Amino acid sequence: MTSIQDYVAVTGENVIDRLRQLARPLRGTKVVHVNSTYVGGGVAEILSKLVPLQKDLGLDARWEVIRGEEAFFQVTKSFHNALQGVPVQLWDGVFKVYEETGAQNSEELRSTLEEADIVIIHDPQPLPLLRSCPNRKGKWIWRCHIDLSHPYRPVWQYLRKYVMEYDASIFSLADFAQPLPHIQYLMPPSIDPLSEKNMDLTPEQVQATKLQFGLDPARLIMLQVSRFDRFKDPLGVIKSYRLVKSFAPSLQLVLAGGEATDDPEGAAVLAEVRNEVGGDKDIHVLLLPPDAHVTINALQRGADLVVQKSLKEGFGLTVTEALWKGKPVIGGDAGGIRLQIVNHHTGFLVKTPEGAALRARYLLRHPDKALEMGRIAKELVRQNFLLTRNLQEYLSILVALIYGDQERIELQLKAAP
Ligand code: UDP
Repeated sequence: MTSIQDYVAVTGENVIDRLRQLARPLRGTKVVHVNSTYVGGGVAEILSKLVPLQKDLGLDARWEVIRGEEAFFQVTKSFHNALQGVPVQLWDGVFKVYEETGAQNSEELRSTLEEADIVIIHDPQPLPLLRSCPNRKGKWIWRCHIDLSHPYRPVWQYLRKYVMEYDASIFSLADFAQPLPHIQYLMPPSIDPLSEKNMDLTPEQVQATKLQFGLDPARLIMLQVSRFDRFKDPLGVIKSYRLVKSFAPSLQLVLAGGEATDDPEGAAVLAEVRNEVGGDKDIHVLLLPPDAHVTINALQRGADLVVQKSLKEGFGLTVTEALWKGKPVIGGDAGGIRLQIVNHHTGFLVKTPEGAALRARYLLRHPDKALEMGRIAKELVRQNFLLTRNLQEYLSILVALIYGDQERIELQLKAAP
């Protein structure tokens, strides 16, 4: 298991010293993160790295996952779609399923949550837990990872009533902030540079992965890594690949994805993708297990073109992961992708499959430029989107919420012995 000391090699001693200083007044603080899945998607990816490091810094941190039936996840997926702007059809009993599952989960989690100094609820699925914890002693934060720039009003008005009862919210970017009666923090997510997903790999490992999945290492590879979700626009990626292939005939497309246990729409979207692929042997749809981190790492390192053509995107960790590997990314002009793709410098922002194809042609024809953009891309991630920065912000928010009404707190200048 990695410890906070291991990150000195990536960030330097100062950053880690500062984390230790910030964590000192929080030693023993009971922090509980709650979300709705241990695997699949960006939130699980972040929590699996963040929580152990919070513990290593002396916090009493834990991660709980709510459970629910298929009907509950259908409801929460439709809420997710609605919050990202889709005018979903709500059916009879939709709110009842949501509220009842919240109440059932609170039976199991109540004592942990009521005892906690800080509870961080990730995304809308576990939002109702707060109402079932009348004796809560700590502060509760709603951490929203979704693109909430233009929510479908009827659903947001309903969920907002729950959010209003929290002590604070955290959004990934300013565009997502909402009129709420409490303090709102802005904090983009991050990747773990030492994880299997992002660690360095040898060229042999990359080559072996290509062969393992039937890719021809001598030919060009275009890649999108994503859950099979319409917001990720996999059909748009296929369209764009077909356009690029007309001038780069050796191109192969890899759509690598897996299932998230809290996403019931994946199978339907996967079927749409397979239908669109038809008999094209140069399109590889890879359904990967949730622990295929090294595989995804190798695919990202081995790709000649990385795309993330999302139509809506809370942040887009897959973009960060590719940028960290020195790849300029062709990304949808949406949500958190805009924070990461500095147009023409770390990649290209696109709105259409045609736009993506045009930029792909540019990168293929200008390999030196692509290399230079990749160098800038990695630096952008080092400065802004590593887990250590995220940890520092979490610690600062915790200090602010717990010690906010004191005039000052003392941060030790030297790390604890
Ligand atoms: N991911 C994965 N396996 C897959 C698809 C995605 O491990 O089959 C990972 C991906 O590498 C990234 C995260 O899941 O770390 C997806 O996060 P992102 O913010 O891009 O999208 P989300 O799924 O949260 O909408």
